[in-house]
Amino acid sequence: MNEWFSALLVFWALWAADGVRLVPAAVFAIVGTRRRATLHLSRWLFPGWWPASWRASAADLPFALSPAGICNRPVGVASRPGEAPWRAQAWAWADIRDVSARDGWLWINGTPFCRDTGHLPAKRLLALAQLDAAARAEKISWLLHRWLRPAHLRRRARALAGRTALIATLNAWFFGLAAVLSLYLAGDGAGRLPTRWAEAVARGLPWLALYLFLLHAVAVGAAWRALRKLPAVAVDKRSVALLSATLLPPQALRLRALLGEAFFPTQHPLAYALAFARKKDLAALAFQTLGDLRWPLGGAEDPPLAQEIARWFGAELGERLRTHMRAAGVEEAALFAAPVADAPGSCSYCPRCRSQFVTAQTHCPHGVALQPVARR
Ligand SMILES: [Zn+2]
Repeated sequence: MNEWFSALLVFWALWAADGVRLVPAAVFAIVGTRRRATLHLSRWLFPGWWPASWRASAADLPFALSPAGICNRPVGVASRPGEAPWRAQAWAWADIRDVSARDGWLWINGTPFCRDTGHLPAKRLLALAQLDAAARAEKISWLLHRWLRPAHLRRRARALAGRTALIATLNAWFFGLAAVLSLYLAGDGAGRLPTRWAEAVARGLPWLALYLFLLHAVAVGAAWRALRKLPAVAVDKRSVALLSATLLPPQALRLRALLGEAFFPTQHPLAYALAFARKKDLAALAFQTLGDLRWPLGGAEDPPLAQEIARWFGAELGERLRTHMRAAGVEEAALFAAPVADAPGSCSYCPRCRSQFVTAQTHCPHGVALQPVARR
């Protein structure tokens, strides 16, 4: 059974490595089923193990913009610790002559500006700079709306699930049968069963192999058809991935996730949490995002234009986020209620990171002004 064993090992190794990606900066990896998804901050993006799961990713906005211009100070960041700009920059719209995307970065006037997360591609950023003031203000408001559309994300997830229902079912059958067959072969099932049964299984194996091949062929065929009906909203590399999956069955066991790549639009991480996360996880992410708006870190030394842009953007983003949070039943006052002392002598806490302090210091190590803890 040794030749079986190595074949199985290769099969499952290819399956495990399928779809694993390392990205340059931590993003929220989102793995979902039909209605729910988990968000997990990481540089490693793993697909779900279950054939019917889909995945997406959401990066924080790497810039802030306003009618005055654009700066590379992130505002309303959901991740911890958020990324700070290597050098704070702000551009007034009239000064932007050239925008390009290179090596995963957006460059403005020949200077690396911020990560190219897909929220505002180079071409659109340049077009925005070239608009007249009134049209630009309208466009900025439209962009803010585009980055926060949980209902749209839910619709996309439903469309993906609907279009790939048959594919996911075929994948689940293949996955289940392959798992049982692997356990049987690797665990010496033939030696454990009565001889007559073992012989019957041995006679059935070629038929099972044929059945698995048919499951694979039909699933992949349906995936090629579904690809045309699931239009991409980002850079689309799905054809190449699907070709590879067609030739290598272990890479064709997550066809729903494969078809979902480039299908989910780039939005704020909190939009994904609003659309799919459990209320507890949503509240945790809302705490971090709204906390970053209330008590931003860094930025005090930024150029005045950058500070002005960040202030305007924070106010606008906050207002929209609060509307969404109220609709989702997450009370901001409850999120930021003062905690009771968690140790004797604890007298103050940092409202941003929730650390408590026993000494008479006025600011936490990150520079946030401390507040008194609640009385019991
Ligand atoms: Zn703190």
